[in-house]
Amino acid sequence: MAYNKPLPKPSPLTQPFWDGAKAGKFLLPRCEDCNRVHWYPRHICPFCHSMSIQWIEASGEGRIHTYAVQFRAFGGWAEDTPFVTAYIDLAEGDRMATVLRGVDASRPESISIGAKVKVEFEAASDDIHIPFFRVVEESAS
Ligand SMILES: [Zn+2]
Repeated sequence: MAYNKPLPKPSPLTQPFWDGAKAGKFLLPRCEDCNRVHWYPRHICPFCHSMSIQWIEASGEGRIHTYAVQFRAFGGWAEDTPFVTAYIDLAEGDRMATVLRGVDASRPESISIGAKVKVEFEAASDDIHIPFFRVVEESAS
């Protein structure tokens, strides 16, 4: 089925992320001065204000920080309701918003805070491959 949702519009700042995603790589910006990863991409490190930012290939792993079941949505997302959005604590640091895959939105009690997730990419167009996260391990402990 063709991707029918709004597509991201890469900028010079975010183009490396989308180039990586297209190649199946999960790239994150990391400050060369304080070594901390941040998300979303910025020209200036939000932790130490350095302008020395480099893209690193991250593991694509993380854990669910929190989640919500979406019962209403618009455009192409409407036909996917209910679906689960989440914030992921990335293994390398910082947090990313996503849509969770492989979870049952009708049974939110089956989703665990802290559950281990892994990134996967969906080709939305020739150039845009969108990252989603899938639960790979149910429990945090
Ligand atoms: Zn920094």
